[in-house]
Amino acid sequence: MATDLVIRNVRIIDGTGGPSRSGDVAVEGDRIAEVGDVGGVGRADASTTTIDGQGLCLAPGFVDVHTHDDGALIRHPGMEFKLAQGCTSVVIGNCGFSAAPARVGEYDASGLLGVRPTWSDLEGFAAAVAEVRPAVNAVALIGHNSIRNLVMGNERRDPTDAELAEMRQHVARAMAQGACGFSTGLIYEPGRYSGTDEVIELARESAAAGGLYASHIRNEGDRLLEAIDEAILIGAEAGLPVQISHHKAAGRRNWGKVGQSLARVDEANAAGADITLDVYPYTAGSGPMAQYFDIERIDPELASVIRFASCPAFREYEGRMAVDVAAEQGVEVADVIRQVLTAPDGDKTICIQFMIDEADVATNLRHPLMMVGSDGVVDLRGKPHPRLFGTFPRVLGHYVRDEAVLTLEEAIRRMTELSARRFGLVDRGLIAEGRFADLVLFDPDVVIDTATYDDPKQEPVGIEAVIVNGALAYRSGTHTGVGAGRMLRYQPAG
Ligand SMILES: [Zn+2]
Repeated sequence: MATDLVIRNVRIIDGTGGPSRSGDVAVEGDRIAEVGDVGGVGRADASTTTIDGQGLCLAPGFVDVHTHDDGALIRHPGMEFKLAQGCTSVVIGNCGFSAAPARVGEYDASGLLGVRPTWSDLEGFAAAVAEVRPAVNAVALIGHNSIRNLVMGNERRDPTDAELAEMRQHVARAMAQGACGFSTGLIYEPGRYSGTDEVIELARESAAAGGLYASHIRNEGDRLLEAIDEAILIGAEAGLPVQISHHKAAGRRNWGKVGQSLARVDEANAAGADITLDVYPYTAGSGPMAQYFDIERIDPELASVIRFASCPAFREYEGRMAVDVAAEQGVEVADVIRQVLTAPDGDKTICIQFMIDEADVATNLRHPLMMVGSDGVVDLRGKPHPRLFGTFPRVLGHYVRDEAVLTLEEAIRRMTELSARRFGLVDRGLIAEGRFADLVLFDPDVVIDTATYDDPKQEPVGIEAVIVNGALAYRSGTHTGVGAGRMLRYQPAG
């Protein structure tokens, strides 16, 4: 077999966290065939594509461990916003919201999916994704909110025994169909109406299949530490690894608290727990606005830091702070929030909340068990949070190169090997012979995000080439249109 692709004379950052070295990497089919000395690799012939890697770094393709790309894989199979960052795999179904299970033809309540399901379970969803040939790989979490909504609607009570059994079956079925674990979003409806015991019971089904528990914990502000404790307890009781999603301390009075919550995680791990985390490199969050406000009692502090991302009811508000809209109209900011949420389609509003301390982002990124996840919400009609387009280049350019918060090799490890191992992406996350050829070629002196809150739909610079399953998917700013991504089936690390 001739070599399909050779990247020559490149600085190889292999994902282990060890020092980079100079060499060549040869790809045959969908795998890395050889990693070797400069000049001596690959059985090149006329059909071989050769890329000169002089001055560039080659890393395993980035794994975005925290996404809401379930519907996007079908709506935007080119996945340009991820591919251009160097992402070759995404973990979907986070925060308790997953595309499956679903009722055929029925829009999900969260507004995150944005597509009408033609499937009822993960197997059906995976088939629908495979049909559109997405540009990146995906592995699925099964979401608590989606399951609970399907079984119990928006009921504000504990499940009956029969309902709990039905929910357990959904988790077990998804695990058997290739899900990597069970996710919760315990601040969201309807997950917030569940007790810890319910979550433990459902997490047990993930544990039985060797999966993990990923959680948008119950509180990320005043009760952050209690919420961390709950996640640790769920992991211990159900007997499975825990991923704390988008770790943060929200709200000015809680800034700095991430030091304490990371200490709790370290303590638990030292005592035998298995807890890891992820973070997005920004000081603002984003999500469905209806989920953050009690319409009867609009929180004025939260309202003051809200910016509209997608606002179908008032498109003219997109990209503006609620306080500025209020000032212009001569009303209170709470009135603007209420006006939006009570309008037709108000429940489809996606907002951005500026609520995180910059110092906490750096503290998070310094932690050795901290992965990178974008948490981007894919509604491209408005002004989405720039993390959708900029997360990975921002870590590499801003936090590694400019701020020296972590080394390049360590950042790559936490975007690749650690993430692939955690979420069961078999034979991915490392540059080594026999591994899948998911690769990203980038310029370490140039790489940076260009997406801003005002102009968020901008692809980063410095990402030279992205290879997915051996196919060149992105090169010098151009998407090749090759849909080489796959729905991956989870396999627990051995
Ligand atoms: Zn979340």
